[in-house]
Amino acid sequence: MRPDYAAILETIHAEVQPLIGQGELAGYIPELAKVPIERFGMAVYRLDGTVHSIGDAAARFSLQSVTKLFALALAFSREGDAIWSRVGREPSGNPFNSLVQLEYERGIPRNPFINAGALVITDILTSRFVQADLAVLQFMQMLSNEPGIDFDQAVARSERATAHRNSAMAHFMKGFGNLHNDVDRVIDNYCRQCSITMSCVELARAGSFLAQHGTVPWSGVKVLERSPAKRLNALMLTCGTYDAAGDFAYRVGLPAKSGVGGGILAVVPGEATVAVWSPGLDANGNSLVGTYALERFTDLTAQSIF
Ligand code: GLN
Repeated sequence: MRPDYAAILETIHAEVQPLIGQGELAGYIPELAKVPIERFGMAVYRLDGTVHSIGDAAARFSLQSVTKLFALALAFSREGDAIWSRVGREPSGNPFNSLVQLEYERGIPRNPFINAGALVITDILTSRFVQADLAVLQFMQMLSNEPGIDFDQAVARSERATAHRNSAMAHFMKGFGNLHNDVDRVIDNYCRQCSITMSCVELARAGSFLAQHGTVPWSGVKVLERSPAKRLNALMLTCGTYDAAGDFAYRVGLPAKSGVGGGILAVVPGEATVAVWSPGLDANGNSLVGTYALERFTDLTAQSIF
């Protein structure tokens, strides 16, 4: 029997109220520290096109690392398995911006969702496209059917001005020969990509190809073949929430990708995508309320992959 999504979202909205305001904003990007911490939105996009949403689900927010999923899908669709010679597929067990592993793994990042791995993906896109940042933006506009999706210039500038760790990682990888373009150009593209804003409703729609074996349900466009789509979901499950991926799988049980803007996109294979946003982060940089909301979603709908 199909769950009553509207009623379940109402229940979740009520249940998260006591938690709203908890966690920390991503203040290391100064512009993100200005976002009101009490915002909460959630949207379910079913593969038949039905949308259910609650709270601030129509408000656009900074996607940050959620864009790593789309950048990877774009790179994977163009370069195929060649990307795996430059980035691994194992959970890192370290924070998303950690430098330590890069040293003993000789400049090959553990996976494409930690910052170092995402920088390699951005480097691949920088080689492939005249303007890699625009290529990712246009890809996401196409997937969401929203030509108005854009960069947030203030957030991009704010991250660029404070991108010391990411620049260090990029230089380090260049030292190992695993970054082919100019470091500043890669960091520019990366910061602009991270600044893209979307609402929960738009994000859930944009990710829907992941719930349907790589094919966009509403347009029929094949973004990825079945097998790479399966692999992307596997990476989301094992690496999409950084060193909390084990706990996230235990609590939520869905492939998902988070970002320090407080957004999380989760996939219910064959059924729906769920996007949630609440900017207060837990110690691992995942939305505290968003993770709880998804945990309740899979409990109440009995829809997880386990
Ligand atoms: N732009 C952010 C950074 O590089 C993205 C990190 C994240 O969302 N986890 O620090």
